[in-house]
Amino acid sequence: MAKVILFLVAASVIVAVAWLLAGIPGQVVASIGSFTIETSTPVAILAVAVLVVAILVLLGLLRGLWNIPRIGVTWRRRHRAEAGERAVTRVLVALAAGEQGPARKEARQARKLLGESPQTLLLTAEAGRLAGREDEAEEAFRALTNQAGASFLGFRGLLRQAVDRKDWTEALMLARQAEAAHPGTAWLRQQRAELALQTGNWAEALELTGPDPNRPTYYVAAADAEPDPARALAFAKQAWKQAPDFVPGVLAYATRLRAAGSEKRAQACVLEAWKRSPHPDLAAFALAPLTDPLARAQAAKRLAATNAANPESRILLARTALDAGLTGEARHQLEAAQADGVRQRRLSSILAELEEQERGDTEAGRLAQREALRQAAAADPDPHWQCTSCHAGVAAWQPKCPTCGKAGTIQWQSDRRPSGWQCTSCHAGVAAWQPKCPTCGKAGTIQWQSDRRPSGLSVVAA
Ligand SMILES: [Zn+2]
Repeated sequence: MAKVILFLVAASVIVAVAWLLAGIPGQVVASIGSFTIETSTPVAILAVAVLVVAILVLLGLLRGLWNIPRIGVTWRRRHRAEAGERAVTRVLVALAAGEQGPARKEARQARKLLGESPQTLLLTAEAGRLAGREDEAEEAFRALTNQAGASFLGFRGLLRQAVDRKDWTEALMLARQAEAAHPGTAWLRQQRAELALQTGNWAEALELTGPDPNRPTYYVAAADAEPDPARALAFAKQAWKQAPDFVPGVLAYATRLRAAGSEKRAQACVLEAWKRSPHPDLAAFALAPLTDPLARAQAAKRLAATNAANPESRILLARTALDAGLTGEARHQLEAAQADGVRQRRLSSILAELEEQERGDTEAGRLAQREALRQAAAADPDPHWQCTSCHAGVAAWQPKCPTCGKAGTIQWQSDRRPSGWQCTSCHAGVAAWQPKCPTCGKAGTIQWQSDRRPSGLSVVAA
């Protein structure tokens, strides 16, 4: 209806204009050279209007012809951009699906179509990494480091590669460059802390790590690595303060106190630690200045008195009493420990020595010794330093496991570990085999763990 009204209005306007034009009186005469054109005014106005329209159409055509090459370039560019965007989407899908070949192929295509943009370089690098082509990934990451505003992405990728290769020197350099490119990221701080731990830069690790249960370990390691005695003492004191029953921390502090001439303070620290968690290394430290066996036995008594019922105290007393020739006292302590249920190998070893000392080279002595050695063969393993991550045994405590390289995992294992089904991932024990660990939920991790008996460790304390 509206269209009909519009048409009627337009037709009325055209008729009115034509009628007005037709009503204009007069003649128009135009002379060009010998040509003379004479016509009525309405026709002349119409002719001028037609001429103007014709010129406009002609100019439009000429402009169109002139623009044909530019339009072609724009069209091709838009077409490439659209094809590139589609390739980028396909790379993302392939990466998410873990399809190595298609991801690399589409990434190459996207890079060809869209050029060296941060997006295409990053996708090329990630596709290369997915396919295990570290050389391709490295080339793309290096190109990324030259991209203004995106260089952090390049350094981040190169840093991840260096960490995977365990090339700590290169990783440290890249971490510094990444920090300069984009300072203050939490991810980078964590990476730098990990690198500091891996390169044994303990003081820096302490600065970079926040609350961490392994801080006492880092303090002990920092004290060991520090050439300045005063700073080393300060680090060791922190280790002791943060964990007064952490034996390596106590010994690190006590050793430096002793070196600084504060023997009394050192002995007090060790005595305090023995009260909380007696350990053969503490006894070794406390008795080290004494060489006379009787004096050692007396000192052991003073130390053990703070925690007399502990098997470690009994074993220390038995050992030092036997060394001082006090066989009665040694036997009393061994029997008391056995009565408490201690079945460790070192107990049987001291007993064998005791039998030899008491009875000498007699038939009864040989029999008793043989019995003690038989007991030793069937005894529980002695407590020992062990990595809680890879379970490798080590002769002495270290801040980092020499086998798996993890920091803060070496711990004193004094519990008897019976044979049984155990998860190899979270170490939870289960009563019967199951396809999946009920604690950590991982499949195929429940295995039969038999008693591990470490060898080559010292049998006795001091
Ligand atoms: Zn380990």
